[in-house]
Amino acid sequence: MENTSWIPTIQEQVKRISESSFYRKRFQSMGLKPGDIRSPEDFQKIPLMDTKDLQKDLEENPPHGSLFHPETVRMTLSPGPKGLMPIYHTRQDVDEVNRELAAMYRACGVGPDDIAAITFGYHLFIAGITIHGGLEALGCKTIPLGPGESQRTAEILNRFRVTVLASNPSFALKLAQEGVPNLRILFAGGEPFSSVEGYKDKLRQAFGKIGLIDSYGLGQSTPVARECKEERGLHVADNLLYLEIVEPETGRILPDGERGEVVITHLRRQGSPLFRFRTGDLSVLEHFDCSCGRKATLTRGVLGRTDEMHKVKGVKLYPSQIDHILRALPEYAPGKYRVSLSTKAGGGDRFRLIVEGKDPGPPAKEKIIQRMKETLLIRPDTLEFVEKLPEGPRVVEERY
Ligand SMILES: [Zn+2]
Repeated sequence: MENTSWIPTIQEQVKRISESSFYRKRFQSMGLKPGDIRSPEDFQKIPLMDTKDLQKDLEENPPHGSLFHPETVRMTLSPGPKGLMPIYHTRQDVDEVNRELAAMYRACGVGPDDIAAITFGYHLFIAGITIHGGLEALGCKTIPLGPGESQRTAEILNRFRVTVLASNPSFALKLAQEGVPNLRILFAGGEPFSSVEGYKDKLRQAFGKIGLIDSYGLGQSTPVARECKEERGLHVADNLLYLEIVEPETGRILPDGERGEVVITHLRRQGSPLFRFRTGDLSVLEHFDCSCGRKATLTRGVLGRTDEMHKVKGVKLYPSQIDHILRALPEYAPGKYRVSLSTKAGGGDRFRLIVEGKDPGPPAKEKIIQRMKETLLIRPDTLEFVEKLPEGPRVVEERY
């Protein structure tokens, strides 16, 4: 049975956000009143929105846009289609996020006795300051380190016996090489992590026994999902938002276990509320009982972007998913690959994958092809390695 306890909350939210001209116009144009949403099916009929809609609102209502809330206490910025876009947070929004993050950190075994440090940036963007608020709300002693070079960061972590670190995983790996023996939990974010095969193993080898927690957030909304200490996937931050997975081309809701685009709806947010917002991120949603009490989980993390979908051999190919798979190769530089699509002599698609870097040899290549077959449902006809990829687009279409 699907849980429908979120429906009254959604009705209230429709009422609340209709005060902005953006949603008032949207809901009026579809003839929607709060009481019309009585079931998940009613909710699913409401059209999706995306960043372009937010951009348009901003241009029509300069400089703040109509999603500005008069009780805003924090403004962060997020890259948009035409430059940085403002995101508003009221006191209530900040408190709700702090509570949800504190609950998530607690589910990872973090407590007031921990000393935490954050190496995400604190300027402009949402990450550093938001994570900081959650850790403080839990009672952690929290150091706002910000980004810096690894030697100095490691010195500070060691001097104050920091036990919890929030950082992107590639920087954490550098810190492990410097030696940071007191660390017991890493909150990773900002880069593909648990979705990259072997990445967690690599960090565990470098750090020894340590909790490795992946997280997913957006410039418009952080957190969206986060692992608990069981590390069985990223639990949805369901006290803050309702999350759906839709087929990117049609917007149709997909059943549990199917790969699709993440769509989020804020339950109570006052500043910059999102309502059935397309994130452009691909993931898989499943429901199970975790010992931490959460159910809705993005079991495989974020798998790529929907931006450039191509149909190859009858299957939808999202090139950025290839990047996630290639990141398992030690010498791979993120983004340095090319997909070449052409027509075979006898008809049908020919799919070549070209990667910049040293050829890792047949067993490693076979493993990549196998992984692609499993996760993308198609395999390249050839996988080639070149010393240097010429400048050009990620996907080269030569099909006529
Ligand atoms: Zn859990």
